[in-house]
Amino acid sequence: MPQSLAFLKLPSSTGRGPREVPVLTFTAPKAGPTVVVTANVHGDEATGVGVVHELAARLERLVTKGSVHLYPSLNPEGLIQRSRTVPADGRDLNRVWPGDARGGPAERLAHILWGDLCSRQPDVLIDLHTDAPASIPYAIVDRVVRGPSRKRKSIEKRSAELAAATGLTTLHEYEAARYLKYQLDQSLSGAVSNELNIPAVTLEVGPRLYLDPEAIRVASQAALGVLTELGMCRRPADPHPTRLPDGPWRRDSGPRVGHAGVFQARVRPGERFTTGTVMAEIRTLEGRTLERIEARSNGYVISLPERTWVVPGVSAGTYAVSA
Ligand SMILES: [Zn+2]
Repeated sequence: MPQSLAFLKLPSSTGRGPREVPVLTFTAPKAGPTVVVTANVHGDEATGVGVVHELAARLERLVTKGSVHLYPSLNPEGLIQRSRTVPADGRDLNRVWPGDARGGPAERLAHILWGDLCSRQPDVLIDLHTDAPASIPYAIVDRVVRGPSRKRKSIEKRSAELAAATGLTTLHEYEAARYLKYQLDQSLSGAVSNELNIPAVTLEVGPRLYLDPEAIRVASQAALGVLTELGMCRRPADPHPTRLPDGPWRRDSGPRVGHAGVFQARVRPGERFTTGTVMAEIRTLEGRTLERIEARSNGYVISLPERTWVVPGVSAGTYAVSA
């Protein structure tokens, strides 16, 4: 399976950082699906960079059909500056797709990347993210909010099948109203599902700002599971030990805290809870309890806040609730 390397040029209007983005392409001798794997849209979420390196070392041996395009970083300036957003304008690159040639730096960057990505004519996108140090790994399935209902359902169904092949817990996105309110249709996977009408899977694996070998192993196995489901290789992903039973599950934000103070979680990632379970306490610095945060429904803990001092309005975590 020959490998090729291209560099996508970035103009200075996208920021002061690197002027090019590498794209590694693997093409098997036999025809098959085209998959795009993107990493590091959020510059501080580095696991995907390591996953791309891991896949680059293994795909040549493993993939027998189709093509895979690997983008190790869509936000290289953010990677350098340890910034979630695009440093040039502080905007979240994962809320501006498909971008705008005449917009600000983040929109221009998205526009250039989107053009390159579309030119590859992908059948599937895998977008690599990380959530928090206290989290279980999971795969997200986007909402398809535009187009005829039958088409929307078939894209979501195929995305869910690909997500199941990761071996990880699958979370369906927030319900449509909140999905649109959070502009998730303008995330990369959201834009791919809604504009290109192809399935997409977002992986949320590992901590930020650190290449954790275990997270790289888990996310690489998950990506190979998707390629296996597509018939491109034979490396099915084993079910991850944290994979939630039953389902389907939907992503939900935990209750908002009402006080500023020290956040002490009372539950761990992967733990089941029921309505009324005390999820966390908010304490003063001297240790007095100000507030107990209780669950409003049944579900499982996916991740806990990556902060100790919270202010009113901060969510007590990300949960899985019945879809
Ligand atoms: Zn992210």
